Amino acid sequence: MARCCAALAGRWLGEPAVAQALRLPRGTRRCSSSPSSAEAALEGGSPGSADPLSYTEQHRALREALHKIINKEINPFVDQWEEERIFPAHHVFKILGQAGFLGVNKATKYGGQGLDLTHQIAVAEELGNITGLGIAMAILLQTDMATPALERFGSEELKQQFLVPSIAGDYVACLGVSEPGAGSDVANIKTKAVPQRGDYIINGSKMWTTSGSQADWMCLLANTSAGPAHLNKSLLCLPMNLAGIHVSKKIEKLGTWASDTVQVFFEDVRVPRKFLIGEEGQGFRYQMLQFQEERMNSSALVLSPLTNIIQQTIEYARDRVLFNKRLLDNQVVHFRLAELATEVELLRSLLYRTVAQCMRGHDVTKLVSMAKLKAGRLSREVTDSCLQYWGGVGYTHQALVSRLFRDLRLVSIGAGADEVMLSIICKYMDTLPRTKSAK
Ligand SMILES: Cc1cc2nc3c(=O)[nH]c(=O)nc-3n(C[C@H](O)[C@H](O)[C@H](O)COP(=O)(O)OP(=O)(O)OC[C@H]3O[C@@H](n4cnc5c(N)ncnc54)[C@H](O)[C@@H]3O)c2cc1C
Repeated sequence: MARCCAALAGRWLGEPAVAQALRLPRGTRRCSSSPSSAEAALEGGSPGSADPLSYTEQHRALREALHKIINKEINPFVDQWEEERIFPAHHVFKILGQAGFLGVNKATKYGGQGLDLTHQIAVAEELGNITGLGIAMAILLQTDMATPALERFGSEELKQQFLVPSIAGDYVACLGVSEPGAGSDVANIKTKAVPQRGDYIINGSKMWTTSGSQADWMCLLANTSAGPAHLNKSLLCLPMNLAGIHVSKKIEKLGTWASDTVQVFFEDVRVPRKFLIGEEGQGFRYQMLQFQEERMNSSALVLSPLTNIIQQTIEYARDRVLFNKRLLDNQVVHFRLAELATEVELLRSLLYRTVAQCMRGHDVTKLVSMAKLKAGRLSREVTDSCLQYWGGVGYTHQALVSRLFRDLRLVSIGAGADEVMLSIICKYMDTLPRTKSAK
């Protein structure tokens, strides 16, 4: 299905480091059957396509296959998992891994499908059809938040040990970046991994760790030296069964109930130095790269639920009669829903353009940040407006609109809060004050 596109890879050589590392891990890149069709799928339409923004048949086939799994293996159990405050990640990941959905754009030699980023974005869009978005977020954490740096920079031995079973669905991964005192301010993390002969000794703690109560390993960001904050950090593969790792009880949250979130404590945890990902001191840079994928996938994830809930609200408002007329027939209602649908399509266009630019090897940091910002803002706007039209029904736990209202609230906070996205955009617009004295 996929083939290696050396010609396309050649075009990316010499591009800015961030963009190149995103697109081109080892001097070559696996692409869909035709690179131009992959790009066209998102930006210009494939030849003969009536819809300029349509995916190709290959993207659609991928989504359909995933749709079937979601409808059979996941959605029928979401209510139960929401009640239990956890979903069985090993069970679900094994099903997804066997079907190839945990490594869509990972190299075939590690068990991935070797497809390009556009296919992963199609998968992220489809995951948005899971009715408990905490599960979708945990899946994306495995595929696009905890593993990209490992694939890009990890040693062969490390990839065999942690990446291959993660793609196969045998291992559940978690990501240890945020801490009690450092979320948005990643540079300020305090967890230390101190080199000691052939090991690192780890002390500190991580906060908000998704899948942390059932993960087999953590992609851990820790300070490995006392140098400048952007050059003293490293990423490590940390098995979660080591002595000295303690996991808190699950944190009760506003939403994403089916996803377990915990705090993890490290007390003199000893891990071999060979578990270092890439070069020591490069962890901050690797993590910033990993954030790009996380933010593109997060933006893709919201498209289906927002589209679905607008449609469901239309149907509900069409049936609901008050003051002798259908709720939907009030202009304020149908105009508002039209406005929101328009905004969702604008987000879709921005995301597709971002992905297409990324496919060409451009630095898309500004566009990614804009898409992520808009995804967060719009998630709040759409779910709040729709919930209002459902009246008391919308205020119940059982209603999908209420679950989406709760689950999607996270998009403005996680993976870089809205204000962090605004700061990045301002940096690119050259409007962010550089020093305090510039006030
Ligand atoms: C359910 C859930 C799951 C998560 N999963 C993970 C995970 O698996 N791994 C992981 O490492 N992290 C995870 N996180 C952490 C998440 O990434 C952080 O919550 C996020 O980065 C924000 O950090 P914080 O909560 O410490 O908020 P803070 O950094 O304290 O920020 C608080 C608020 O300050 C505002 N703010 C931030 N920067 C600025 C600025 N420059 N100017 C003005 N205002 C600003 C924002 O409104 C922000 O929401 C998760 C969080 C949640 C809630």
